[in-house]
Amino acid sequence: MADKKIGWAIVGLGEFATKQLIPAFGVCKKSKLVALVSGHPAKARRIADEYGVDPQHIYNYENYDTLRDNPEVDVIYIVLPNSLHADFTIRGARAGKHIMCEKPMATNVKDCEAMIVACQKAGKKLMIGYRAQYEPFNLKAIELAQSGALGKLKSITADHGRILDPSKPLDKWRAQKELAGGGSLMDIGIYSLQAARYLTGEEPIEVSALIHSTPNDPRFKEVEETVHFTLRFPSGVLANCTSSYGYHDTKRFQVFGAEKTLTLDPATDYYEHKLILEGEDGKQELKIKEENQFALEIDHMSECILENKTPKTPGEEGLQDVKLMMAIYESAAKGKPVKIR
Ligand code: NDP
Repeated sequence: MADKKIGWAIVGLGEFATKQLIPAFGVCKKSKLVALVSGHPAKARRIADEYGVDPQHIYNYENYDTLRDNPEVDVIYIVLPNSLHADFTIRGARAGKHIMCEKPMATNVKDCEAMIVACQKAGKKLMIGYRAQYEPFNLKAIELAQSGALGKLKSITADHGRILDPSKPLDKWRAQKELAGGGSLMDIGIYSLQAARYLTGEEPIEVSALIHSTPNDPRFKEVEETVHFTLRFPSGVLANCTSSYGYHDTKRFQVFGAEKTLTLDPATDYYEHKLILEGEDGKQELKIKEENQFALEIDHMSECILENKTPKTPGEEGLQDVKLMMAIYESAAKGKPVKIR
């Protein structure tokens, strides 16, 4: 059992799957890639060949459900455009497989709930791909924020931005509400939201938000450009978060305590994080070993399957973010704060 590797199928061979996730299996200790699901057979064959996947284990979106007949596949990883997550999760669970699903879990609360129920009914595990919660720099930041090392926490700021370019395939669907569900908030603002939640270890009780999209910019006909949102936490911590498809690459957060300020910038990049602590005694960069966060999160799910444990970021974690993002949109639409029940 100790040597057993869990078999994974990847669904959707896009940028993220091919450049980050699939190569990460090379350093996974408990997980192996055994199947691919794609709408492009030639691409799937090329990737299967490169990573040693049996060409018999290539599926498409139509015969996806026949994964049920492949005993080598234990878990299915959904890496499709956001609004397709729910359908493929539910079908995957019905095919008797555990599910890992990319963020955002789905584009509405009802779909998230249906995904959780489908996995429960099938007796299968559901994990959301919140890689930052497995990444060593973020884990250190959480430890420092929650241990009192910064003094009493007062404020958090978190910013995630990049320029949306729908001429690229990976951004074409991101500009379409039907596939993306929303704009910068759903795609990258979710990292700011996650950070505020995992740094405090608390759930917000109120949100307020403003949204702006450049008028007449065709990229923002269907999805929003910039979102600013404030979260109020029960302890009194306030988090000011932003996301934008209009400002340049930014992936950072700061935690302001009574005694020290912690800056992680970049915070949620794939590699090369930088963690700075600043206080009365000056500024200090904390050196931590970079690790392959994709391998860490994939192996975490495999370990949960092998040892029958609940994943650290289960479906309920994804559902909570989607509920909060809906409250953020509601606050911006109504022009007033929204209380969270
Ligand atoms: P891409 O557009 O690069 O890949 C999506 C893939 O989904 C496509 O290549 C295609 O695969 C498949 N697909 C199936 N139906 C459609 C459709 N109607 N339109 C477009 N693609 C379709 O996107 P990303 O890889 O950037 O994102 C995929 C998911 O991963 C998203 O949910 C995103 O939020 C998440 N993500 C998470 C990241 C993280 O750090 N956790 C980082 C980046 C993305 P094929 O050609 O094989 O059929």
